[in-house]
Amino acid sequence: MLQVKNLTFSYKKQPVLDAINFCVNAGEHFSIIGESGSGKSTLLKLLYGTYDLNKGHIFWKENEILGPKYHLITGPDYMKYVAQEFDLMPFITVSENIGAFLSNFYPEEKQARINELLEVVELQPFAHTKVKELSGGQKQRVAIARAIAKWPEVILLDEPFSHIDNFRKQSLRRSLFRYLKEKNITCIVSTHDKEDVLSFSDQMIVLHETKIMAKGTPQELFKNPKNKLIASFFDEFNELDHIGITYPHQLKKVDASPLRGIVTQSFFKGHYYLIEVNLNGKSIFFEHDEALKKNESICLSITR
Ligand code: ADP
Ligand code: MG
Repeated sequence: MLQVKNLTFSYKKQPVLDAINFCVNAGEHFSIIGESGSGKSTLLKLLYGTYDLNKGHIFWKENEILGPKYHLITGPDYMKYVAQEFDLMPFITVSENIGAFLSNFYPEEKQARINELLEVVELQPFAHTKVKELSGGQKQRVAIARAIAKWPEVILLDEPFSHIDNFRKQSLRRSLFRYLKEKNITCIVSTHDKEDVLSFSDQMIVLHETKIMAKGTPQELFKNPKNKLIASFFDEFNELDHIGITYPHQLKKVDASPLRGIVTQSFFKGHYYLIEVNLNGKSIFFEHDEALKKNESICLSITR
C-alpha cells in the first residue's frame, strides 16, 4: 500500500500542497485530477522522491520514500515515473529505447519483452524507427513502454495521453490500463480527461487550492458531485434553484412543468443534441434526440 501522510510542500513560500492524506492499495488504479496548476505534477514528483517534503511522510509498503537529501539517485527502483516531458534517446530505435534498461544477458527474453511492450502501446510498426522521427504522441508511448519494461510495482503517469490523438487514445488507454491491472502494477495517473478516470480508476482525488477537495470512487464523485468544480470535470452541468447540480442527461423535455424556458441553440453531439435553454435569464443544458428550433418555448423535468 502507498500511504501519504500529512504531506506538505512548497517550492517557495506559498504551499503548493498542504496536509495531504491518502492511501492507494497495491494493484489499484488511482487518479489525481484538478485544474492546471493545482499541483498534480508536483504530487507525482513528490511520490517519486524528486523533492524533500516540508512536512509529512510517504510510504510504499514499509519503505519510506525520501527526497534528494537522502539519495543520490532520484526514484526508488520499484517505481517508475513518466513525466509530461519525457526524455528518450532520439538517435536509437523505438525497440532499443524500450529495452534500454533491460539486461542483455538473455537476448531472446529481452526481445520477447520488447515485443510484448510494443504491443501494449501499439507501436509494433515502429519497432525499428528512430525515436527522433516519431510524433509527440508516439514518443509518449515509447516512454510509457520503457517505464513498464522492468516490472515496476508502481507506475506514476503524468497526463499519459496528452499528446496522443483521439484516433488512438481509446484503444491505447484500454490496452495499457488493462495490462497494468492484469500485472497488478499500481498505477497513479494525473489527468484532466474524465475518460482516463471513469472506466478505469478504483479511486480518485480532486486537488484544489493546496487541499484534497474530494476523494472517492469515480461513481461516487460522478453521482454526487458536491460542487461545480467536480461536476465540471465530468460533464456540462446546470445549477438549478432548489435542486442543485444536475447534468444535461438528467433533464428531459416534457409537455408541462414549472421549469419553462426558451431554446437558444442546439449542439450536435453525435448520438444526441445538447440543447441550450434560457431559463429565467440563466443558461441550462439538456440532452435531446433531435435539434430544437431557436426561440421554441419548452418545459423541462428532472429524470434522476
Ligand atoms: P499541475 O500539474 O496540476 O498543472 P503543477 O504541480 O505543475 O500543477 O504546479 C503546481 C504549482 O506549483 C503551480 O502554481 C506552479 O506554478 C508551481 N510550480 C510547479 N513547478 C515549479 C517549480 N519547479 N518551481 C516553482 N514553482 C513551481
Ligand atoms: Mg501537470
